[in-house]
Amino acid sequence: MTNMTASTDPLAIAAALIKCPSVTPAEGGAIYYLDGLLEAAGFECHRVKFSEPGMADVVNFFARIGDGGPHLVFAGHTDVVPPGDADDWSHDPFAGRVADGMLWGRGAVDMKGGVACFAAAITRYIARHGRPKGTVSFLITGDEEGPAVNGTVKLLAWAQQRGERFDACIVGEPTNPRALGDAIKVGRRGSLSGTVSVRGQQGHVAYPHLARNPIRTLTKLAAALQAEPLDHGNDRFDPSNLEVISVDVGNTTWNLIPATATLRFNIRFNDIWSRDSLEAHVGALLAQAVGPDDAAYEIEFETTSSDSFLTRSPELIDALSLAIEAETGRRPELSTSGGTSDARFIKDYCPVVEFGLVGQTMHKVDERVAVADLETLTRIYERFLERFFEAG
Ligand SMILES: [Zn+2]
Repeated sequence: MTNMTASTDPLAIAAALIKCPSVTPAEGGAIYYLDGLLEAAGFECHRVKFSEPGMADVVNFFARIGDGGPHLVFAGHTDVVPPGDADDWSHDPFAGRVADGMLWGRGAVDMKGGVACFAAAITRYIARHGRPKGTVSFLITGDEEGPAVNGTVKLLAWAQQRGERFDACIVGEPTNPRALGDAIKVGRRGSLSGTVSVRGQQGHVAYPHLARNPIRTLTKLAAALQAEPLDHGNDRFDPSNLEVISVDVGNTTWNLIPATATLRFNIRFNDIWSRDSLEAHVGALLAQAVGPDDAAYEIEFETTSSDSFLTRSPELIDALSLAIEAETGRRPELSTSGGTSDARFIKDYCPVVEFGLVGQTMHKVDERVAVADLETLTRIYERFLERFFEAG
């Protein structure tokens, strides 16, 4: 038993958040809970609803305390992915049960637990040192696990319009593969998707000279895309990788040469490439692969692609690394691996790093977090706050 009040106890806060069934885009009570909690801690709170035709409204949240710089923003989300079949879970995914030293439930690590730890950390900090000499804010979206249209992008623009200027950001996503202290994410690879469509000429399979089989050309193009590695990586990033993710012809007939064939691919790329240079490279690979007898093809790139980024902010990265090392005895790897996150939007406003809980069970049945990890992450965040605001 502890005598901590709810507002400084990350376990109580995380359990309360898990009890809010905030499956994207539902608010589920999670934002309102956070609003009450941070208002009691002295924050100025704003619930901000965004709409888009044909989409569900999404409630987001911004809260701030203090004045002027430096301005540290903690970014995260309270929405969660669906639990799947609740009967498959050892404990009700929305009960916030503690058992076997674990807090169980959807969002335990991704990322209600991370939000709870930062809320507990700043509340403890204020109790110990008073208001920070600068500003601390929360930028919380309810639309991270969904289309992300009514979430972080709009909330960042909203905050900027109100005159908020951020100096540094921590995203509390679960960044540690195995144990707390494994890794800080200091950047992300870019993502580029595309579709190659080949148009041949349909015909009878017994008379191929009267047709033009698009699959012959498509397989050449697929081979060309996969023949050589795009690069060998560098000291900051893993090698870029192209995966063919789908080959589609849809021909169910045995005696027919089809008219068209398509393939789709996705590339995760490092900072050796820009989106433009990579599109040009892919275009050249395809062009070199075909000869005069091949069917015509087209390549189309998705507009949702994003460039890679790398945060170079010693103040932010060193302060966080030292806080992690002090609490866990481990020096975190500075990682750029893994998928994309809302950090790709925040990087346009201020230096951003990601550090949260252990990601092993995220999005899975029986998502759970060690109770001890919640306390350790809270201490890491508080230690970081002390360093960042030089109050230690
Ligand atoms: Zn997440």
